[in-house]
Amino acid sequence: MGSFRFHQWLTVEVECEDGTIGIGNAALAPRLTKAAIDQYYAPLVIGEDPFDYAYLWEKMYRRTLAWGRKGVGMVAISAVDIAIWDLMGKLSGKPVFKLLGGRMKDAIPVYYSKLYSGPVADMQTEAETARAAGHTGYKMRFGWGPKDGMSGMRENLKRVEAVREVIGYDADLMLECYMGWNLDYTRRMLPKLERFEPRWLEEPVIADDIHGYGELNRGSIPISGGEHEFTLFGFRQLLEARAVSVIQYDTNRVGGITAAQKINALAEAYQVPVIPHAGQMHNYHLTMASPNCPMSEYFPVFDVEVGNELFYYVFDGDPAAQNGFLQLSDDTPGLGLSISDAHLHHFTIEE
Ligand SMILES: [Mg+2]
Repeated sequence: MGSFRFHQWLTVEVECEDGTIGIGNAALAPRLTKAAIDQYYAPLVIGEDPFDYAYLWEKMYRRTLAWGRKGVGMVAISAVDIAIWDLMGKLSGKPVFKLLGGRMKDAIPVYYSKLYSGPVADMQTEAETARAAGHTGYKMRFGWGPKDGMSGMRENLKRVEAVREVIGYDADLMLECYMGWNLDYTRRMLPKLERFEPRWLEEPVIADDIHGYGELNRGSIPISGGEHEFTLFGFRQLLEARAVSVIQYDTNRVGGITAAQKINALAEAYQVPVIPHAGQMHNYHLTMASPNCPMSEYFPVFDVEVGNELFYYVFDGDPAAQNGFLQLSDDTPGLGLSISDAHLHHFTIEE
């Protein structure tokens, strides 16, 4: 996954008769997702009542089940569903988290997510900057995998040690593989990583290797995953297999807020915490309202970025973290996002 970069984002608007507009979004395969919405999903929701959201979700799901139950179809359903929730919030004058159970936390604890693998000194400088900004949780990425042999393993370990050196052992450290390892490589890495006390090891193997996750998760380091899994049924399989110790769906892939809310309840029954993938309002509102979502991932704002941080340029309204926490307003209806045109001149816009 060396070429992992998002270069595109899709926004979805659902407009009511009174002119109120709900905004949703999708970041996976935006061109295909747009085609799926235009050709299949939009006709299913036009003319309907947004407050029938659960019915609308079933309608979209069942009409496209043959090809849409996972992947692009579910990403499209997610985008429409998020827009419907934004709409419900705006129409009722409430922030979405107030419709999901309300304020469960004074503020949302976040962990700093960046630290892409690079020169050791650069990673230490970045970690120190994040620490000085008040963060107490950090996620770093590995740069070497199975094809790089023992010397690559040492490069990986050197960087984990270097980051721990800066942040100390009172802070949470998360380790991200983005499916770039395999079962054999991960089995060999786990004992070498133990002394760094990671809070979790993320997506060590491909998303479909549920048995691999299950085996790894029985070891001493918690395994996390789920950002490439879909719907309540997908997470039932992960939970039944005890495959992950932390669930990381992204609401704009997993089936929207309607599906995420059900997964939160199921995960609570298994006592597996849900810490959604990426930042963004659709995830923050669910996290604020759930007793089983202890914190959020947080991508720091940088001047120039082409990864997950792209949403900062597409939308206004995402909160910035202060001293390791972020806040949602009790007074802003809906998700609290608007589409921004401040950075449009940097982008190619496709109709
Ligand atoms: Mg991840």
